[in-house]
Amino acid sequence: MELSYRLKAMAESETLAMSQKSSELRAQGVDVINLSVGEPDFFTPQHIKDAAKQAVDDNFSFYSPVPGYLSLRQAISDKLKRENNLDFSPAQIVCSNGAKQAVCNVLMSVVGAGDEVIVPAPYWVSYVEMVKLADGESVIIPTTLDTDFKITPEQLEAAITPRTKALILCSPSNPTGSVYTHDELAALAAVLANCPNILVIADEIYEHINYVGRHESIAQFPELEGRVAIVNGVSKAYAMTGWRLGWVAAPLWLAKACTKLQGQYTSGASSIAQKAAEAAYRGDQTCVAEMRDAFRRRRDLVYRLASDIPGLRVNRPMGAFYLFPECKAFFGKHTADGRTIETASDLAMYLLETAHVACVGGAAFGAPECIRLSYATGDDTLVEALARIKKALAELS
Ligand code: PMP
Ligand code: GLU
Repeated sequence: MELSYRLKAMAESETLAMSQKSSELRAQGVDVINLSVGEPDFFTPQHIKDAAKQAVDDNFSFYSPVPGYLSLRQAISDKLKRENNLDFSPAQIVCSNGAKQAVCNVLMSVVGAGDEVIVPAPYWVSYVEMVKLADGESVIIPTTLDTDFKITPEQLEAAITPRTKALILCSPSNPTGSVYTHDELAALAAVLANCPNILVIADEIYEHINYVGRHESIAQFPELEGRVAIVNGVSKAYAMTGWRLGWVAAPLWLAKACTKLQGQYTSGASSIAQKAAEAAYRGDQTCVAEMRDAFRRRRDLVYRLASDIPGLRVNRPMGAFYLFPECKAFFGKHTADGRTIETASDLAMYLLETAHVACVGGAAFGAPECIRLSYATGDDTLVEALARIKKALAELS
């Protein structure tokens, strides 16, 4: 028996793999600090948990409509109006098993063999693998720390070809924490205005983990009307990663396509998670601001501590909960037991084995000179982790 060409071409999710590795070490009794996977360390707020318990008692135990309960899609439609001043009707919203499935639904709906999808790098690990799954080709736009890891309109223009089907834009960004300003988005929208056949997939899952103020969506620009698919969900803003509830707000034809696709391979998302998400969107939003404030404090902390580590070059993230330092100064250095650090993955492995801190090498994000640290964990743990990293890096010769 042989695996399909699809599976053979696909890489394993490195974020999840590193997290798994750190759990295994922890199970063996090693005191590992896990900065690899990106998920809030907070518990889901009480009023959301109460709504889920109520949903169990109210017998929300049957199949839901494939795109989600109308009441949830209405709550999301209202959220988009209230927070983003955007008009998407409930019919344009499809709920899925996390934002991950929402991205995949969109890509599988529009991308086929020979189609190109523009993906600015550094990118979230799953985009390029999903494009592969859809038989498409990712066209990577490289960026560096010197431009705060953001693409320019000129770069976007140069990447567009007659085969371009979509652009995936993630702001605030995983893994860099960069946030595009209103004017930067306007400049990208101006380029896309001349290309009416390109869909913009705006991954806004970190919308609320934003330290610069109001969230700016590329969907606000009239020249892109009817061709932006906004992906979002409750995982990050409401500390609900395990509930698996994300969504896309899209033009009607695309929402219908996502529903058709999802109807054949997963059906509607968990009924209980949907009722919990509805409570998240309808309820008091204080919890969102409180968690964001905690993430900002930790951003300041890790930025300060990492800036003080010789050999790391650090950007100051403006959103999300990742630090993405450049670490190429360590390439070619040797460990105490005589191994050579050739890549960022080698460095991540060295830090795991020696400092017992798990982070992720940048190659999986299209940035082989960087490593990613998630700072979605307690302040004391972060201080300890950065101290261990500093010590281990100083021991390389
Ligand atoms: N997009 C980005 C940029 C992410 O970091 C994540 C987190 N895994 C997702 C999408 C998927 O989110 P979810 O947990 O809701 O599937
Ligand atoms: N978004 C998180 C991360 O990048 C979760 C893991 C994943 O789904 O890849 O670490």
